[in-house]
Amino acid sequence: MEDNDIPPAISTYLHEVLKAPALLVGCRAIGLGISKPCCEFDIIVLSNENHPHKVTKLGSHWMELVHIPLKSEVRKVVLDNIEEIVLNDTDDLVLSSIKNTDTNRKRRTTSKSAIARKLLISCLMRHNEIEGMSQRSPIISSMLLKISAYEIMQSLVYFSGLPGSPLHQMDLIRKTLEPNRFESESISLALEIIGVERASSSVLRRSIPSYSQLAAQRYDRQLIEAKINFLYESGMTVDCYYYIGKMCSEILRPLNSNFWQTYGKLIQIGMDLSLDVEHIQRWNSQLTLAAKQLLRSHRTVSAG
Ligand SMILES: [Zn+2]
Repeated sequence: MEDNDIPPAISTYLHEVLKAPALLVGCRAIGLGISKPCCEFDIIVLSNENHPHKVTKLGSHWMELVHIPLKSEVRKVVLDNIEEIVLNDTDDLVLSSIKNTDTNRKRRTTSKSAIARKLLISCLMRHNEIEGMSQRSPIISSMLLKISAYEIMQSLVYFSGLPGSPLHQMDLIRKTLEPNRFESESISLALEIIGVERASSSVLRRSIPSYSQLAAQRYDRQLIEAKINFLYESGMTVDCYYYIGKMCSEILRPLNSNFWQTYGKLIQIGMDLSLDVEHIQRWNSQLTLAAKQLLRSHRTVSAG
């Protein structure tokens, strides 16, 4: 089956139950053969009814439905994705008409570069907090540093125009970004901070249940767990380690220091944090320098 072949159970659901304009986005829409069997079908549904995001399993396939208000935000959605496939169009075919025009392609690149620059700025803004916390609270300091390292990786993905999906990030970066470019030094540094060389089955066996506890309230927890289990059982240890750290950092980044303090031990195990103060301080300086250099080398964001 091709990545973007819609399984009959999902197709029937869309056409006979949902009956609303819908777009397929995410790795299944890109069709580069990157999807894994555990990857969901990400579907954006245009609807004026207020539905929460929903993850569900139809047959052996996962599906994630994200509802957005009809038409008002569709242009932004198209720009935020690398590729999309129209599954159900509106009566006036608005989805097909905005898809992949040259103007939208240009806007898409500009919009991705702007997000990448914001991520780098957020890394720079975290520098003092990481430094200040390194003696007092090494767990929080190390967690913030790791969040910054993931932001650097995410920014490189966006600058390169690669799909942003966390599950495929490691794989795409390995395959696509050439060695010996300036970026490769930043990647090596970020991966060193993330700790991929520490990835092992025994580390994963401790961090997987910690992730599940941190993610207890999330609507997509079961889907993420299915992906983690797929990587673990396929022996993709490094990818699995990277993915768990990434998903933990997505959960923890918007939370406050009360939460971080309360669940410090769980965070330390889930993210496999190094608590070596000297390392944290050195890496923090190096990462800040890398973020500054990346910002300088991607200075121009053309208006489009
Ligand atoms: Zn995927």
